[in-house]
Amino acid sequence: MNYDVAIIGCGVTGAAIAYELSKYNLRTVVLEAENDVASGTTKANSGIIHAGYDPKPGTLMARLNRTGNHEAHEICKKLDVKVSWCGSFVCAFDENDDKTVRKLYERGLENQIPELEILNADAVHSLEKNLSEKVTSALYAKTAGVVSPWELALAFAEVAVLNQVELKRNFFVSKISKIEKEKCNPQYNSAYSITSKNGETVNASFVINAAGVYADDIHSLVAKPQYEIKPSRGQYYLLDHEAKDLVSHVIFQCPSNGTKGILVSPTCHGNIIVGPDAVSTEKDDLSVTKEGLSQVAALAKKSVPSINLGLSIRNFSGVRANSNIDDFIIEEVPEAKGFIDFAGIKSPGLSAACAMGSEALSLLEKAGLHIESKKTFIDERHHIRFAELTPEEKEKLTKENPAYGRVICRCETITEGEIIAALNSPIKPVSVDGIKRRTNAGMGRCQGGFCSPRVIDLLIKSGIPPEQITQDKNGSYIIMEAL
Ligand SMILES: Cc1cc2nc3c(=O)[nH]c(=O)nc-3n(C[C@H](O)[C@H](O)[C@H](O)COP(=O)(O)OP(=O)(O)OC[C@H]3O[C@@H](n4cnc5c(N)ncnc54)[C@H](O)[C@@H]3O)c2cc1C
Repeated sequence: MNYDVAIIGCGVTGAAIAYELSKYNLRTVVLEAENDVASGTTKANSGIIHAGYDPKPGTLMARLNRTGNHEAHEICKKLDVKVSWCGSFVCAFDENDDKTVRKLYERGLENQIPELEILNADAVHSLEKNLSEKVTSALYAKTAGVVSPWELALAFAEVAVLNQVELKRNFFVSKISKIEKEKCNPQYNSAYSITSKNGETVNASFVINAAGVYADDIHSLVAKPQYEIKPSRGQYYLLDHEAKDLVSHVIFQCPSNGTKGILVSPTCHGNIIVGPDAVSTEKDDLSVTKEGLSQVAALAKKSVPSINLGLSIRNFSGVRANSNIDDFIIEEVPEAKGFIDFAGIKSPGLSAACAMGSEALSLLEKAGLHIESKKTFIDERHHIRFAELTPEEKEKLTKENPAYGRVICRCETITEGEIIAALNSPIKPVSVDGIKRRTNAGMGRCQGGFCSPRVIDLLIKSGIPPEQITQDKNGSYIIMEAL
């Protein structure tokens, strides 16, 4: 099959680009190695839409963070993505930190970030009661927010698919060859054939490499290595809803060790998230360690001494796509016309996501892509969150569709109706965690202990053979035939 554009990777970067391209009359395909969208770094991070004071002025990270944060307001509304614009603090604990806070403030001004303010200790404590008494000042960034990262990626991808972008899951790209342009679309000067591990091949005139921590490997399939991804792992605690009033802003410490520092933050789902540390690691290493978590706990207590980590319901880790270049690597590869890298998309990649689509479009146009707006573009997405409805709305909905009256996940009050809607959504989930990412079932205190069998039952009723149902990625089978 021939396409105008192939996007490799459907994390938040690839999905945002697919969404943008779906506004035009183009044949676009997204090739994703895993069985679902948002299966890489996009599903395991802090979920902060940073204000943008942190990146070095003049970098792509600075520009795209600022624009991405701005665009996210409208996009999250339009695509019904859960977000809370709660603001963030970078806290100082001594004179040295006070100087860092001042530097970050000045950098923020240089990056043209609005609504930044340095607060003294009294002002900070009046806004956050549980903060350590040792906090001496803080940078207050009112435009920071917390978002559901996987939902943002899903929203982009679902709307792209609704607008005729093709998504091929389980397509692990293992080979890319330059081919004659006549074999794809003769009006363009570039053409590639892209082959999966299973032997499936697609041709495309332009390729976007959005493969996260594997972007250097994908780049090396078409050109000499230009950069290297050197991943680092960040570990977290996720605390139960019982902890939700602990803090109401994202609480950072001053940046250290190449990271934005340990945070204690509300999530948009009403939990508290604590972490991450930074340890050099392998690309596929998502382990958590006792030492790492103890270090995270100790640092979190420095900001919020009363934090009760006994309320943890889950530990997890995510892997940063750090590279040997201290910026995002977004460019057409010099030796491979029409092949564009979106590599090294470490933090603030999520914050920049809402700006990645237009960035990709302008590079594609520069590389020769012709675009024409689609008259029928559907630019919206809605879904029902039963727990957030009023009693009257709940009653009405339950009368119309009794499946909304059957609660499957008790911790999060997620109904059968919501799970069935997810199973009928443009990108059908095939795993228990796929349902979790779309509905929140299994996100609560019991972490799916109660609802998993019911979710599995609904997956089976949707037509997936029991032995093919996985917890998450391919191979994580749940049901086995008796020997
Ligand atoms: C610990 C941590 C905390 C973070 N916190 C924040 C934060 O608070 N705010 C923020 O702005 N950013 C944050 N980030 C960064 C942010 O999470 C990333 O920038 C963003 O998720 C990157 O998305 P992506 O789509 O580029 O990569 P990914 O989400 O990794 O997506 C890449 C996709 O490519 C697919 N793929 C890989 N190889 C192949 C192949 N051969 N064939 C086909 N598909 C392939 C993968 O399966 C994956 O789905 C954090 C990152 C980490 C690790």
